Amino acid sequence: MASDPIAGVPLPWPDQPGELPRHFRNRQALAQTLEQLFPEAAGSLSPVRGGRHQADTLLARLQPERYAKGRNFLDGPVTRLSPYIRHGVLTLAEVREAVFARTRSRQGSEKLINELGWRDYWQRLWQQLGDGLWRDQEELKTGHSAAAYARELPADILEARTGLACMDGFIEELHGTGWLHNHARMWLAAYLVHWRRIRWQTGAQWFLQHLLDGDPASNALSWQWVASSFSHKPYIFNRGNLERYSNGRACRHCPLATEGCPFEASYEQLEADLFAPMPTIRATDNRRGGRDASRSGNRGRSGTTQGSSTTALSRPTPRR
Ligand SMILES: Cc1cc2nc3c(=O)[nH]c(=O)nc-3n(C[C@H](O)[C@H](O)[C@H](O)COP(=O)(O)OP(=O)(O)OC[C@H]3O[C@@H](n4cnc5c(N)ncnc54)[C@H](O)[C@@H]3O)c2cc1C
Repeated sequence: MASDPIAGVPLPWPDQPGELPRHFRNRQALAQTLEQLFPEAAGSLSPVRGGRHQADTLLARLQPERYAKGRNFLDGPVTRLSPYIRHGVLTLAEVREAVFARTRSRQGSEKLINELGWRDYWQRLWQQLGDGLWRDQEELKTGHSAAAYARELPADILEARTGLACMDGFIEELHGTGWLHNHARMWLAAYLVHWRRIRWQTGAQWFLQHLLDGDPASNALSWQWVASSFSHKPYIFNRGNLERYSNGRACRHCPLATEGCPFEASYEQLEADLFAPMPTIRATDNRRGGRDASRSGNRGRSGTTQGSSTTALSRPTPRR
């Protein structure tokens, strides 16, 4: 610790009275200062390191070809660059050039470049929508009205004691590190919105409080995508999906693994349990061979297939 000075990028203006301190002997000193300044804040420093040096280290480790195949697995080769992009330590253009430099072919870089494209796309939408991104972009396709969703986060969520090892683990990770894998964000968001019937805005605000990469556009619009106010159907998952992409790590010690897991069902069953009938969607899906087929279509951005243009109620969804 003592040999670990915090060397941030020097700011071009001198320290001003009342500003947060900029220089620390080491991380421990930083932690102590934060404890004094924010005595009400719980927990300890995130293990995620800030700064350009760390960002460059991660850039040098990019593996775009492996990323394309493994990005949906919790232990897959994702970049973890989001906090540095979010805070302007890296520009998207820099990351793009690093991806090209580390890929043998343009094809091999495609998936990762696509994801950078989504980041850019959300930012542009934010410019257009402003605070309007906190409003439903479309009607929900769950069969429930917006008023049916709770405004408050229940205590068991805030305290990571839902009893579901997967969800409690994700919540602890979110609170403790400020970062979650994309799939974990999708599962946790879907659990909150669809299983617990909580407003997506409530969940999105909670994420923003904790994520080191917390970004109003990527966050709110991704929550809307899960909720179905910015996609053609709600995003849900089942236990098979979660076990596959998490290598079953939470299920192995979950008290509900053998009985009572709310995700242990087919997509058809889950949709029947979670959503009220939406005749237009069901009619369209039936023509395509059942809900499971369309469900896997909805999973496009999470790693299986891209959905076809099933557009029962809304315009074609631009993502996933
Ligand atoms: C409910 C929910 C909330 C989210 N909130 C945020 C948020 O507040 N801030 C944020 O930066 N991302 C958010 N995302 C998008 C995505 O989960 C993170 O960008 C990604 O997990 C960050 O990890 P990474 O840097 O290893 O990403 P990688 O998979 O390595 O991707 C590289 C970069 O591409 C961009 N990117 C990747 N996936 C997405 C995506 N789905 N949408 C937009 N950009 C993407 C990010 O800048 C990321 O750093 C959210 C996703 C969901 C489902």
